[in-house]
Amino acid sequence: MYYQRTLRQGIECSGIGLHSGRKVLLRLLPAQPDTGIVFRRIDQDGYEISASALNVNKVDFATTLGAGGIQVKTVEHLLGAFYGLGVDNAVVELDASEVPIMDGSAAPFVYLIRESGVINQNRTRRYFRVTKPLEVKEADRWIKLLPSDELRVTYTIEFNHPMIRQQTLTIPVNENTFVDQIAPARTFGFMRDVEALRVRGLALGGSVDNAIVLGESRALNSDLRFLNEFVRHKMLDVLGDISLAGFPLKAHLLVHKGGHRLHTQMARLLRTSMASNQIESSKESWSPALGLAPPFA
Ligand SMILES: [Zn+2]
Repeated sequence: MYYQRTLRQGIECSGIGLHSGRKVLLRLLPAQPDTGIVFRRIDQDGYEISASALNVNKVDFATTLGAGGIQVKTVEHLLGAFYGLGVDNAVVELDASEVPIMDGSAAPFVYLIRESGVINQNRTRRYFRVTKPLEVKEADRWIKLLPSDELRVTYTIEFNHPMIRQQTLTIPVNENTFVDQIAPARTFGFMRDVEALRVRGLALGGSVDNAIVLGESRALNSDLRFLNEFVRHKMLDVLGDISLAGFPLKAHLLVHKGGHRLHTQMARLLRTSMASNQIESSKESWSPALGLAPPFA
């Protein structure tokens, strides 16, 4: 039997928002089956916003959810961690509008979730099994979903920078590959963009402590965690964004020069496609053969 999962207990940390630069408290709490991931703004009378593609509000440089005039910004790395660790249900409390950036990767969220522990719940999990190809395109950028029995991501990025150029990588996504190969990859940005971003009130909290910062020819950080850390980070972003579809996927996800806009458009398309029966929601689960661990707590 395959069950939905939630956190064993509450756990919290604090950090700063990448874009706002503001200090924020983050608390992760268990939630009932079929809750999904819900953000709760404790500084806004406990206002709740579901992690759903229908609540996507902004997609410049980070994914922002919004409802009723209240926002939660930069949700993608935390959502990626829940997705990669197979956590279906949780409440995320924040006392400000932006999820803390931590070190720019999902590794600190993986640590927090594992510290809390993950437990099975008495309700089966449902999956999106993609039965027909789906595609969203925007000029030379695209994202596709192809039928596959396992979740697999192929991502290609192109940036005119000597440390990046073109990077392509395919990873079958399971808990082990997520934790080892995707979660530690940090977000990145270009020095040449910093001024313009700050004028727009973005990247105010950004530094080499929470991002790979690229100068003209090299990174200002001392080391990269992977030679192709950039494309791995984009994989983290797309997993967080695609989780907004509402159910875990069984599909091969291919992305060419994607970003939050394309990722979240696909998440939205998944929801509408399910309604038109293009996608079955299946009660099958992660297969142990894929190396997806049972609850580790
Ligand atoms: Zn990111």
